[in-house]
Amino acid sequence: MAKKTKISIDLNLDSIKIKNVTIDSYGEYHIYVSCSATSTLCHNCGKKITKPHGQCKESIIEHFPIFDNRVFIHVKWPRFICDSCDDNNSTTSFKPKWLNDTGKMTRKYENFILKFLINSTIKDISEKFCITEEIVEGIINRNIKTTIDWEQIRPTRIGLDEIALRKGHTHYLTIVSDLSKDKKIKILAVIDGRTKDEILPFLQSIPKDILSTLEGITVDMGASYFSALKEVINNNIRFNNTVTIDRFHVAKLLGDKVDKERKKVVYQLKKEFENDEDKLMSLKYTMWPFRHHRKDLNTDENKRLESLFELAPSLEECYELRENLYEIFELKEISKGDAKEKIDAWCESAELYETKGFNPFTSFIKTYRNFEENILNYFTHRMSSGPVEGLNNKIKVIKRRGFGFRNVVNFAKRIFLDINYKPILLPAA
Ligand SMILES: [Zn+2]
Repeated sequence: MAKKTKISIDLNLDSIKIKNVTIDSYGEYHIYVSCSATSTLCHNCGKKITKPHGQCKESIIEHFPIFDNRVFIHVKWPRFICDSCDDNNSTTSFKPKWLNDTGKMTRKYENFILKFLINSTIKDISEKFCITEEIVEGIINRNIKTTIDWEQIRPTRIGLDEIALRKGHTHYLTIVSDLSKDKKIKILAVIDGRTKDEILPFLQSIPKDILSTLEGITVDMGASYFSALKEVINNNIRFNNTVTIDRFHVAKLLGDKVDKERKKVVYQLKKEFENDEDKLMSLKYTMWPFRHHRKDLNTDENKRLESLFELAPSLEECYELRENLYEIFELKEISKGDAKEKIDAWCESAELYETKGFNPFTSFIKTYRNFEENILNYFTHRMSSGPVEGLNNKIKVIKRRGFGFRNVVNFAKRIFLDINYKPILLPAA
């Protein structure tokens, strides 16, 4: 009976022959093999060498598990000596392609661990596979490359965005992403810093033929991105047609100014009605509805927004103006010229709107005028902020999971693993 439940497994590893297999008291497999290689390449001169010169001491190599039991391959690699090299000590031990760089695990095992690392922490994987965190870190360091093969990727659109390395800290990084149309978003670089001097070396490393054919470069309004890009694209017309300010950053800038106004007005009203329970109730829980689009509000949220506007009609006007600008950006088939006209008209009505003492739109309009060409480029390139926002959220999750990375290199590798390497390691997804 027992025989009928057995299967044989092909290890699928060349240059070895299985001598014996034992299972220890932990259920772990130990596969003792001999090496069938009859030659190797001299590490010194690169010639093929066939003269045997003893064996190395036993290597224990981890391979991926069989039925959830760990698998170790025991082998003594043969050594060969080179006749062509003068140095008598020129021996080279054989190493198959499937062995990793440390000689302690198979490449398939490294890939197996990397798959599990996606969306997981190093600590999780260390605990689940009973290996040290140093081993997991080593697998990441050896396999995750954060340099870009430009010829292979050839992006047509890129984006530059800043993020804080840790919450509440002033250590900023710049994320450069490949936003090419109809391609999955990819990371091109994680740069330590956001100043002109910090990002210039990367921009200068982009091959000239790629840089000169980029259709669009999306950035936020950080002036350092502008001055760095101006230095590498020294043609003004090309700069004005290519560099695009992400509509998400425009919306955020306006949203923040309008929300400041809400805070100020609500604060005044709370003081005014400090003895009026009903009116104070109307002011409660209005922040969320105010910050969002009407179409995203449920009945209750809509009601709260309405009762806020009854007490503060000026805020309603403010809210509507914010929404009006948003709607221009939502228009599907509008040209850059038509969009400019519409936004000019919007600026006029926003300038007309004056609240007591403070106009939330004045400084926004000033910023808009400064960056007008580059903001309006959105209507030419239609680079949607959706993928960028999705990417930023993913990066935030990676950051939280890593409890705020202290080390930029490690953080960069995790971002590359979870975003660029994921489709390679998990092709079905
Ligand atoms: Zn040699």
